[in-house]
Amino acid sequence: MPKSVSAHALDTLVTLGVLPKATPELRAVAAQFAVSITPAMLALINPADSDDPIAAQFVPSIDELSVREDERLDPIGDDIHSPVTGVVHRYPDRALLKLLLRCPVYCRFCFRREQLGHDEGMLSAEALSQALAYIKNHTEIWEVILTGGDPLMLSDRRLSETISQLNNIDHIKVLRIHTRVPVVDPERITHEFISILRGRLPVYVLLHCNHAREFTPDARASCARLIDAGIPMLSQSVLLRGINDTPESLESLMRTLVENRIKPHYLHHGDLARGTSHFRVPIAKGQELLRSMRGKLSGLCQPTYMLDLPGGYGKAPIGPQFAIENDDGWLVEDFHGHKHSYTDVAAISPKVKDA
Ligand SMILES: *Cc1c(COP(=O)(O)O)cnc(C)c1O
Ligand code: SF4
Repeated sequence: MPKSVSAHALDTLVTLGVLPKATPELRAVAAQFAVSITPAMLALINPADSDDPIAAQFVPSIDELSVREDERLDPIGDDIHSPVTGVVHRYPDRALLKLLLRCPVYCRFCFRREQLGHDEGMLSAEALSQALAYIKNHTEIWEVILTGGDPLMLSDRRLSETISQLNNIDHIKVLRIHTRVPVVDPERITHEFISILRGRLPVYVLLHCNHAREFTPDARASCARLIDAGIPMLSQSVLLRGINDTPESLESLMRTLVENRIKPHYLHHGDLARGTSHFRVPIAKGQELLRSMRGKLSGLCQPTYMLDLPGGYGKAPIGPQFAIENDDGWLVEDFHGHKHSYTDVAAISPKVKDA
């Protein structure tokens, strides 16, 4: 278990000098939304920088008390797609298995913040066996995604039990793990842990990270251990105001990921979680940022910009468009912003040859 600053978290943050004072407002924030940070992330914070991108992700702020009317307790509609406790089955071929609702750090913009950090938060043995029974009975499930919370908060023994049960369900072909641990608690990625991932199922690790500075030498080494063991890694990041919403910070995040053999997968538009409006970026600005990256950065560095629709309708790509259809065919934009007309020969009905 990582040595997180969880109990009396605010006072500890004050003692450590990353928070000036534990005001009553901040106590009200911490009473609603769990606070925790790992030593690895704490060490990265520069207390002299009031805009520190690491502090902004984990140190609570009174802005979290401003809840907008359109913000929700269940921002992406997980509940209506949760047939049994711990399972979210929104898309036919894949299901989430939420093994526990705790994380080594609590991101202030988290879309599951309402559920996280309560006393127990671990799926009971009975709930887990019902969740596994659901997955077993639904043969359309091709991929299981372990998530939470962060599944790597569990002991190797518990994870290994669940993973071997999943390995025994024939219709499952792929196992995916969503985690923030390789960067926020790199020591957790031990060779013993990696050995429990070996089995019939190919394992993909999807890393949650939002800023290039999260990639300390230890974090780089922990990702390398996974990848060297044959485990492909992809990333998901959240577009966050003041943290990664400039061309420079996004470029450096994406390049750092690829330099570490991690393929950028999704850049999420901020979900409508309560008290997170200070992190949200307008979609038009998100599209502009992605447009500026196209062509300038290697294709390996391009994530897909995604919106998870409120109400449980699922994710939709909302990135910039480069091709528009008009009466004459298509108008396609190159990476300098110049538009070119393109005739789509395949769409024109073939001329019938005279006999
Ligand atoms: C995001 C999500 C997934 C994974 O989606 P991918 O597009 O495959 O990355 C699966 N199930 C649920 C319920 C999700 O919210
Ligand atoms: S690691 Fe993920 S689930 Fe945990 S607090 Fe951060 S965003 Fe939420």
